[in-house]
Amino acid sequence: MEAFAVPGLPEIEAGDDLAALVANRVSLREDDVVCVASTVVSKAEGRTAALSDYPAGPRAREIASRLESVTGEEKDPRFAQAVLEESTDVLMDAPFLLTETRFGHVGVNAGIDRSNTGGDDLLLLPKQPSESAERIRDGLPVDCPVLVTDTSGRPFRHGQRGVTLGWAGMPASRDWRGEEDRDGHELEVTVESVVDELAAAANLVSGEGSGGTPVVVVRGFEFGDHDGSQELYREVSGDFVRQALRGWSYE
Ligand code: GDP
Ligand code: MN
Ligand code: MN
Ligand code: MN
Repeated sequence: MEAFAVPGLPEIEAGDDLAALVANRVSLREDDVVCVASTVVSKAEGRTAALSDYPAGPRAREIASRLESVTGEEKDPRFAQAVLEESTDVLMDAPFLLTETRFGHVGVNAGIDRSNTGGDDLLLLPKQPSESAERIRDGLPVDCPVLVTDTSGRPFRHGQRGVTLGWAGMPASRDWRGEEDRDGHELEVTVESVVDELAAAANLVSGEGSGGTPVVVVRGFEFGDHDGSQELYREVSGDFVRQALRGWSYE
């Protein structure tokens, strides 16, 4: 398996046809997975915003002032308002704002980006990343899967890595349950989130800064002979860590 960046992509603007931009720069194959950073999907979909679009309500002002006192940093209540408007649930409001987006992803600040925004104040995540992935896939000349990725932190470990927000053309995970390990023990719980693993590989190539490489092709990945599942985002009822967070509050 190899991973390489699509070269020569321009600054992406609202209305750009990402599929065509990619297809014109790389000769795709059926064993490719096209991994697109959500940053450019958002730009192409016009998901940019200005802080002035979000006059802060009482909840946002309360969150921002608490964040300010906890972190000692200045917090713009309009940013908190933008996060609230992009979210369906607030998991933590201090010492940072951790929320769930409409499509099920839990991320700091609802994944709203303030870097690589193309000059706008804010870059919101795509509204429905799997639909974005499907649209990009429909525009490609070759029938290969498409992932929409983002860089995201994770609990318990330092550092961030790529995750998949939306996908099309492949299952989200492969199921090893019922197969045997080398000692003949049957695997009971292993469902491998292949879209996140592919996103992590893509993120490794695309980088975070000014590299200008938002699309990475992973070539030669083999799903193998496994059952697949489309599940990625946990329901609250089966998410025990999230349940433990309820009833917890900072300081
Ligand atoms: P995110 O992980 O989806 O938030 O995306 P990043 O902000 O980390 O950017 C990923 C990669 O895409 C980096 O190499 C950026 O330099 C690059 N990038 C971001 N926006 C653009 C763009 O409009 N055009 C090009 N060519 N590259 C971009
Ligand atoms: Mn970014
Ligand atoms: Mn991002
Ligand atoms: Mn990134």
